Amino acid sequence: MSGEPFGASGPDAEPAAPDHVTGARRLAGDLVTGPVDRFAEPLTKVLGPRSAGALAKLGLETTGDLLGHYPRRYGDPGRLTDLGGLVLGEHVTIMARVVQATVRAMRSRGGAMLQAEVTDGVHRLSLTFFAKGTGALRTHESRLQPGRTGLFTGVVSAYRGTRQLTHPDYLIIGVDADDEEAALIEARRPIPLYPASASIPSWRIQKAVRQVLDPLTEDEVPDPLPPAVREARGFGSRHAALKDVHEPFDTRQWQHGRDRLRYEEAFVLQAALAQRRARAEAEEATARPLRAPGEPSALADFDASLPFTLTAGQREIGEEISAELARSRPMQRLLQGEVGSGKTVVALRAMLQVVDAGGQAALLAPTEVLASQHARTLRTLLGPLAEEGMLGGADHGTRIALLTGSLGAAAKKSALLDAASGRAGIVVGTHALLSENVQFADLGLVVVDEQHRFGVEQRDALRAKARTSPHLLVMTATPIPRTVAMTVFGDLETSSLTEIPAGRAGITTHVVPADNEAWMNRTWQRVREEVDAGHRAYVVCARIHPDEAAASGDADGAGASARKKSRTDDFDEVPDFLDLDGAGAGSDRPPLRAVLEVAEELASVPALRGLVVGVLHGQMPPADKERVMADFASGAVQVLVSTTVVEVGVDVPEATVMVVFDADRFGLSQLHQLRGRVGRGSAPGLCLLVSTVEPGTPAAVRVETMAETTDGFRLATVDLELRSEGDVLGAAQSGRASSLKLLRVVKDVAVIEQARADAADVIAADPDLAEHPELRAAIASQLDPEREEFLERA
Ligand code: ADP
Ligand code: MG
Repeated sequence: MSGEPFGASGPDAEPAAPDHVTGARRLAGDLVTGPVDRFAEPLTKVLGPRSAGALAKLGLETTGDLLGHYPRRYGDPGRLTDLGGLVLGEHVTIMARVVQATVRAMRSRGGAMLQAEVTDGVHRLSLTFFAKGTGALRTHESRLQPGRTGLFTGVVSAYRGTRQLTHPDYLIIGVDADDEEAALIEARRPIPLYPASASIPSWRIQKAVRQVLDPLTEDEVPDPLPPAVREARGFGSRHAALKDVHEPFDTRQWQHGRDRLRYEEAFVLQAALAQRRARAEAEEATARPLRAPGEPSALADFDASLPFTLTAGQREIGEEISAELARSRPMQRLLQGEVGSGKTVVALRAMLQVVDAGGQAALLAPTEVLASQHARTLRTLLGPLAEEGMLGGADHGTRIALLTGSLGAAAKKSALLDAASGRAGIVVGTHALLSENVQFADLGLVVVDEQHRFGVEQRDALRAKARTSPHLLVMTATPIPRTVAMTVFGDLETSSLTEIPAGRAGITTHVVPADNEAWMNRTWQRVREEVDAGHRAYVVCARIHPDEAAASGDADGAGASARKKSRTDDFDEVPDFLDLDGAGAGSDRPPLRAVLEVAEELASVPALRGLVVGVLHGQMPPADKERVMADFASGAVQVLVSTTVVEVGVDVPEATVMVVFDADRFGLSQLHQLRGRVGRGSAPGLCLLVSTVEPGTPAAVRVETMAETTDGFRLATVDLELRSEGDVLGAAQSGRASSLKLLRVVKDVAVIEQARADAADVIAADPDLAEHPELRAAIASQLDPEREEFLERA
């Protein structure tokens, strides 16, 4: 594999690139519509540089992009916008009726102005135009006749207490058509309202869309839906659907078109997943059966040494996995389960079965902290079994190699050697494991822990290191709703661990207002009490340095800059921020609390006097991270102030308190993960969510929801409902998000299920889609943005 694992992507990709990395546009052009692919045509060519320039600011470069820019909603030509709700400074498009328009000369300043008034029937709004002379304003005056209805767009300002738009761009409904009958029909059509911007108002987009769409013939619009599917579901052609959504004559029409396009999104995605499933099933894997009873076995020894009994779920899923590993088809399984349900043990047992059968297992973890924790746990649990080849080591044991990006040269070399020679039966690592110089003697099983941080490509990259297709076990960090599983992990079979091991005392959650001194004091007192009882506390902050760029309190900025930073080995320090309330940019919220600042403050909190406070964040050298985690585990450090690097998987059973600063800025799933770090032993857990938001705001509701329930499935569903779709799939790191414009994975359960069934039938009958070139092309183009996104994250 080359340094750039997936090659170039997008329309400029090398012509020599294999099919699956070539844009569908070109494929569609070559295979379907002859030499000219109308969807790939640059808008500059079709519309001219000016319109194209404005559209480019919305990310629309080609005909296909523009036609895929669907209206966000539709204006009813009979209904006017409520002008009472206009907000100063906002860029708006409103529908209103003209009351009057007057041109007059301005004595004071020279020049002329036109002042018009429009209404929604209740409120009024001024429109103001200035010009050198009155003549220039007469056209406006003649168009803005009282009684006419128009769309007006501009930034809302105020002049002497009156709301106004200055030099609004506008369109008078019904006037821009040639004859009267056409004008009437035109005036009654639903008005597509596009996601617009200040540089291009909605109706200019509408005009551009028409200009591009009207000359297209049915043959020039490739349709990924096979005719049989179309017929069975009662849908028309893709061409018709585009007409329906962009140029409807009535509501039913655009709804019908939108339903079809939404179904199509689900169908193409499910076809891609079905194809992946089918391909994997057709591959050959090495069977890794259990050892016969009585034979020396690392798995049997491990089971015998477990300090607890497996839950029923762990046993059942364990048997299922065990049977799959024994087959010569690669296992493709997703293991999801509640935080703390004991997924790791299930994975370890699978790995040991493979090791017993002579193969190797790789365990891919999202952070260094988690990778070294896994290695440590494995070595402890396996005891002498993990010392194969050493004096006193068991002869059926194995070695455990740890491979992370920041390993020293010597340690790295020896880990690489252990992996390549097969001496290490288990190789644990971060995505350093994906790098090309990592080789395995006989890789039989890939386990991906806390999947939401890894994409499909990363799974594939690891699988590519095996001679025969390895078995695959993917674990999610938190439970996810079924449709999300079908969408994001739809190529995998799913098992769920729903039971929490017995003997857990549960977790209590409270919201603490950050500015309430008494509550904050009580928070530190509780930390003190827990530590005095022999327990430990986490204190989580959203960023490391108080003077980081993110200090403005711009949550999006924090996410973005952190994401850039994550180009290094670890995925930590990526606060999965939300800014659902739009309160981020330019808000007067207090800045985010930082690890280094809070750690210092804690030193002078009276309640904490004498306690050892440690610090952990992703920018620390790995050895320091390792040491502080070990100290925290042993109790040498009692309070750990950390970033979200402890979010997933970290397992210190003595930790009982979790304090999260700026809790209102985190996503629910992330808070659920963080909270899952405590209450893992027999002592009850306590989670204190320090929040700066006003009660009653959506952010406050989110934090309160968190305090109300510990049901991960419920939280995940609420989280998804609150997020945009892009966030949902983005959070799952699937990258498929960009192709979903209309489909809502939480709401559109029925659509997803139908599409999944239909796609499975199509793929079963024609696995390579030889008979369905347009579907094949659509799948290829969907993988494109995914690759781009992966490269960005890599
Ligand atoms: P998660 O599903 O969140 O990854 P882990 O695998 O980290 O959960 O398990 C959480 C804790 O529960 C660990 O300390 C683990 O050793 C313990 N554990 C796992 N299975 C059981 C069980 N059957 N009974 C008691 N404790 C268990
Ligand atoms: Mg885990």
